[in-house]
Amino acid sequence: MILEPTDALLVIDVQNDFCPGGALPVPGGDGVILPLNRLINRFETVIYSRDWHPDDHCSFSLDPQFMDGSWPVHCVQDTPGAEFPFALRVPLDAVIVSKGTDPNKEAYSAFQDTDLKNILASRQIQRVFIGGLALDYCVKETALDARRAGFEVYVVEDATRAVSEETGRQAMEALKAAGVRFCFSGEIK
Ligand SMILES: [Zn+2]
Repeated sequence: MILEPTDALLVIDVQNDFCPGGALPVPGGDGVILPLNRLINRFETVIYSRDWHPDDHCSFSLDPQFMDGSWPVHCVQDTPGAEFPFALRVPLDAVIVSKGTDPNKEAYSAFQDTDLKNILASRQIQRVFIGGLALDYCVKETALDARRAGFEVYVVEDATRAVSEETGRQAMEALKAAGVRFCFSGEIK
C-alpha cells in the first residue's frame, strides 16, 4: 500500500495506564509503540486520541467488572497515567483529541464528542489507518465510527492489542463485517 496525502494515521489511546505497569494494562500494550513509531514518521497526518477523564468519571469503580464497562480509575486528566509513554513518538505539533471528558458519559470512540471528523474533513482525508489500544474497545469503536463517517478504514494488526483474546477475536469479526480491513505495518510504504 502506497501512502497518499489523503491518508491519516489514528493513534488511539497509547497511554501509560493502558501499558504494563499502568492502572488498566492491556496485555503487551507497549508492543504497539514500535510499529506505530515507524508509521508516525511516514504519514503526513497523524492524530492522537487520549482517554482524558475527570477524577469522578462514571466508568470508574472500586470493584470493576471490566466486561460491563466498569473499570479501575484510569487516565485521569493531568496525571502520569494519562500521559503518552516516553517511547512513543509525539511531534510537538501533534494533533491530539481528548475523549471521555464528560464525567457522566463513557466514550470509547475517538469520534465521540470530539473534533476528529472535522479535522479529517478539513484535510480531505479519505483513508484512515488505526492502531493503538485497545482493539476490543476504543480501536474497535473508532474504526466503526470511521466507517459510518464514510472513510476507508484499515486497522493495523501488529499496532494494536486486545484486553482479552476472546473479545479481541469478536472485535475483529465485527470490524470485518462492517467493512473494516486489516493490514500489517510492514505493508504500508
Ligand atoms: Zn476510559
